[in-house]
Amino acid sequence: TVILGIESSCDDTSAAILKDGVVLSNIIASQKVHEAYGGVVPELASRAHQQNIIPVVSEAIRKAGIGIQDIHAIAYTRGPGLLGSLLVGTSFAKGFAIANRIPMIEVNHLQAHILANFIKEPGVESRQPSFPFLTLLVSGGNSQLIVVHDYLDMEMIGQTIDDAAGEAFDKCAKVMGLPYPGGPVIDRLAKTGNPDRFVFNKPQIPGLDYSFSGLKTSFLYFIRDELKKNPDFIAENLNDLCASLQKTVVDILLTKLKKAARQTGIRQIAIGGGVSANSALQNAVHKEAEKSGWEVFIPRLGFSLDNAGMVAVTGYYKFLAGQFVGLDAIPFARTILE
Ligand code: ATP
Ligand code: FE
Repeated sequence: TVILGIESSCDDTSAAILKDGVVLSNIIASQKVHEAYGGVVPELASRAHQQNIIPVVSEAIRKAGIGIQDIHAIAYTRGPGLLGSLLVGTSFAKGFAIANRIPMIEVNHLQAHILANFIKEPGVESRQPSFPFLTLLVSGGNSQLIVVHDYLDMEMIGQTIDDAAGEAFDKCAKVMGLPYPGGPVIDRLAKTGNPDRFVFNKPQIPGLDYSFSGLKTSFLYFIRDELKKNPDFIAENLNDLCASLQKTVVDILLTKLKKAARQTGIRQIAIGGGVSANSALQNAVHKEAEKSGWEVFIPRLGFSLDNAGMVAVTGYYKFLAGQFVGLDAIPFARTILE
């Protein structure tokens, strides 16, 4: 079964070809236009998607070494995301499905971030989680704990009550004058910083829910107060600030992940979403795995940030389950895991 996957929910235009769960190509065009604005500008994003989508799809098909006639179905991101961006992918999928007389499959972006852990690469021996497993989904818009009962059967057991972890990284990076998106920049700068130099407040939220807005605010006030005393405070302490902030975010994430693992008794632990690329988070999860006997699954870098490979793999399992949509399908800006 050959699936063409399309991802256009935010600011990356991506297309992938997947054959029986093995990714043959995964092309990602990142949009640079947003850097100057310190965040994604929705109108610019949809225009860039329109420019990128056909070249990206052509490249994915070419690189996979297949012909258009070999594709059995097209899977595209229905949501959540920016409506204008989603519309580009949705409209493309409809046109492609009609022109090539193939079925269409809609994919939930969050489900896709989780199923990224099932992408196989040609010639690479890969371990895959078995059901049920527990996932920490941490991205630009979401921070959730999810029990995955089956490919298409997921149960959310905790989530952020305000900001997402990636959002916290990005907003704190902005306070320090770092470019967007700040998460990967903080990760890099933190490598030579002291994570114990500064201590930031951690939220006291009951149960398995997260909160990151308090951290963002206390970080902002701390920086503001220090800058009053020393205008060069950020420049002189940048690496330590990044390392300390990163440690705080990772501690918050791990606390609830450990709690969820204890409560559910599940020891197969996966992470997914853009923040799963964070090196400190990966180290912390591996360290806890040794202590608690977890088996850990983390998508390779190209499959943790937004990409069409994860959309195609989700589409593959929906194809096997016979879950197709008609041409009246519409995008959703906000969706929860069904
Ligand atoms: P969602 O998936 O919730 O709809 P999104 O698609 O915008 O949101 P992703 O692309 O999955 O989010 O992830 C982007 C986020 O990941 C950004 O907030 C970015 O800063 C963060 N991120 C990426 N790499 C790293 C890293 N190495 N360390 C920390 N954060 C990172
Ligand atoms: Fe995403």
